[in-house]
Amino acid sequence: MKFETRAIHDGQKPDAQTGSVIVPVYQTSTYQQEAVGKHKGYEYSRTGNPTRTALETALASLEEGRFGLAFATGVAATAAVFSLLEEGDHIVAGDDLYGGTYRLIEKVFRRWGITATYADVDRPDSFARSIRKNTKLIWLETPTNPLLKIIDIKKAAKVAHTKGILLAVDNTFASPYFQKPLLFGADIVVHSTTKYIAGHSDIVGGAVVLNDEAMYQRIKYYQNAAGGVPGPWDSWLVLRGLKTLAVRMRQHQENALYLARYLAQHPKVERIYYPGLPSSKNYAVAKKQMEGFSGMLSFELKGGRPAVDTFFSHLKLFALAESLGGVESLISYPAGMTHSSMPREERLKRGITDNFIRVSVGIENKIDLKKDIAKALTFV
Ligand SMILES: *Cc1c(COP(=O)(O)O)cnc(C)c1O
Repeated sequence: MKFETRAIHDGQKPDAQTGSVIVPVYQTSTYQQEAVGKHKGYEYSRTGNPTRTALETALASLEEGRFGLAFATGVAATAAVFSLLEEGDHIVAGDDLYGGTYRLIEKVFRRWGITATYADVDRPDSFARSIRKNTKLIWLETPTNPLLKIIDIKKAAKVAHTKGILLAVDNTFASPYFQKPLLFGADIVVHSTTKYIAGHSDIVGGAVVLNDEAMYQRIKYYQNAAGGVPGPWDSWLVLRGLKTLAVRMRQHQENALYLARYLAQHPKVERIYYPGLPSSKNYAVAKKQMEGFSGMLSFELKGGRPAVDTFFSHLKLFALAESLGGVESLISYPAGMTHSSMPREERLKRGITDNFIRVSVGIENKIDLKKDIAKALTFV
């Protein structure tokens, strides 16, 4: 069955006992046992909960993987993947990386003897060159944040697998509707379901999807042992969100492309970053591995920081906020928000200039969105 159908039905059969069409919120911590050790598959809700099981089944289906695991947040899912590593192991990650992943590696896992090298994602051979004898994991994010660069998953999988290294892909920015990394050779897919999958900016959550059963058992063991699981209500909200993922993603993309084209020709815009524009240097690779270009775009405004502040102060629809992937449009300023702790020199070197703006394009009417931007730009 196709994606839209699986999103609504996989793992979500009507309740056998009552006929309830929607999977109930199993708000329980524990489960009655008929006799010692004789139960219906559930013993305690850290280990398993039927609402969470429904979510995990649906997530695996959408990524076309065999096994899904849900976590309390995206970083909890990331930590679960890192738990596969041992003291002395090494990670190769891209240098345009989600800040929380960088922090988790450098401030937490480094203390436990795990190190990382950050490869220049603009250089195709840099992942291969960053590999050491003790490298066990390549960690990719594509599209990257906030520069929206695209990394070739198939090539990375080949580099990883010729050396017996695992490839994990953080698929948060594309969502499984537009990109399925397992089909291009990735071993593990990670999500912050907080973003597109739940889609309504009302919960935080994470997920891991994979095909290898032994590795699944190890991460599942960690999930129960470390305990970073989502509660039944949060699982239910993510499940409700993912039913409409396909229609939302189509609209996110339509609106983003519309705004990207508008901004690309605007005299007050210096540069636009959107992999769905044929003029983007990432277009060809994106076209190869993505079925669409998602709803994230970035641009540089002429005039530096004062222009940015003026522009933001005149927007009515775009909320100045971190995060992304919700139905409402958000705008952010990486240099002063997500990347403010990075030294300016380092930030500039990576292309995050003082006039760089990131937009999570929502699913409001695209003409209203364009008018809001057009109006605010007249004050710049
Ligand atoms: C938000 C985000 C995360 C972390 O997820 P949380 O749900 O905030 O813990 C990881 N990767 C990417 C690409 C993200 O955007």
